[in-house]
Amino acid sequence: MASKKQIDELKIILEEKCIQIENNIFDAKNNIAQLKENECKDDFDFAESSSDSFTLEAITKQQVNELTEIKNALQAIKNNTYGICDMCDENISIGRLKAKPFAKYCTSCREIYEEENK
Ligand SMILES: [Zn+2]
Repeated sequence: MASKKQIDELKIILEEKCIQIENNIFDAKNNIAQLKENECKDDFDFAESSSDSFTLEAITKQQVNELTEIKNALQAIKNNTYGICDMCDENISIGRLKAKPFAKYCTSCREIYEEENK
């Protein structure tokens, strides 16, 4: 079980990451808007630039997902349910939380989850 102090440290990391990702998403959305605008103006580069905005949208989507997970983790800290595996209700090891502070599953459940979602 993670101690109060360890959770406080992870909370700071999560909050910083949250701000960072929000900024990234904000920038990416501006870039996508700009790329799309250019696509409309310039037919010549259409194929290339539309794939740029596509890639950027995919990355942004990933970041939005990560942001959701981080916000869930911060909420869990508030609810005192942080560090508990979503699947088996066991405590997630502190080593795993340090590596991935918004981990939802313990190591063994994560393996099962990944196996099922291949
Ligand atoms: Zn588990």
